[in-house]
Amino acid sequence: MTGISSLISDKYVVPILNYHRIGKPERVDTIPIEFEFKGKTQVFYYLTASSYLTQWDFEKQMKFLRKHSYDVVSLHELLKLINNNENLKKKVVITFDDGYEDNYTKAFPIMKKYDIPASIFMVASLVGRKDFLSWDQLREMSENNIDIGGHTMTHAKLSEIKDEQRLRYELYDSKKVLEKGLKKNVDFFAYPFNSEFDDKIIKIIKDSGYKAACDGNIGNKYPDSIYTLRRTGVGIVSKNLFRIKVSGYWPWIERMKIVRFTTSLVNKLL
Ligand SMILES: [Zn+2]
Repeated sequence: MTGISSLISDKYVVPILNYHRIGKPERVDTIPIEFEFKGKTQVFYYLTASSYLTQWDFEKQMKFLRKHSYDVVSLHELLKLINNNENLKKKVVITFDDGYEDNYTKAFPIMKKYDIPASIFMVASLVGRKDFLSWDQLREMSENNIDIGGHTMTHAKLSEIKDEQRLRYELYDSKKVLEKGLKKNVDFFAYPFNSEFDDKIIKIIKDSGYKAACDGNIGNKYPDSIYTLRRTGVGIVSKNLFRIKVSGYWPWIERMKIVRFTTSLVNKLL
């Protein structure tokens, strides 16, 4: 490949789509998460996500992927493709963060209908809390094409934690809680807030036994970026913007700040 085509091809990243809630939340809540650490009860406050997609819009997006012959793969399959250096074009991965109950009531029926695999990154302390997934729901989904991944114990911003023991609690202990509840291995991790990280955090993620980790910011070059896999947030977007977001060039377009231009061009062309 030469010239412009190789230049553009270099910018391709498998679109790993990132969702939170399906269905408009009534309000944004602050949920206290109590946890025992170093013999003391501590409280961390989790703010519920305001970003959402209606069930109707979510179905439209899944239908779009099927209609246009995208190959929606699980993170396990993606990892295999990367390790075998196989063609990644037209692959898409679906992920959800935090573990809202609507992932089961509203997204799961659609994913079953279109035979679409996904990963849900569950905050271990939120299992069974109001509006969040229960163990039964998690187990049922994990038997049906939905992989459950780790998303820390308390949804803390990892880059702000200086205490290594606390980092292990968030990364390793939360993995063990999920594995015990699911009776299955938890292989993947997603950084809360798609936040910053450093080598120490990545080392603990690896030591904890995760096979890969998803982020929202960097990670363009495979296979170096297995622990910083770039994700693309999806909210309520037009069909054309969704088309760009699943093209594989979204991170590059976004970084080049040519979003408006590209969207208007696609609008004109389609
Ligand atoms: Zn999160």
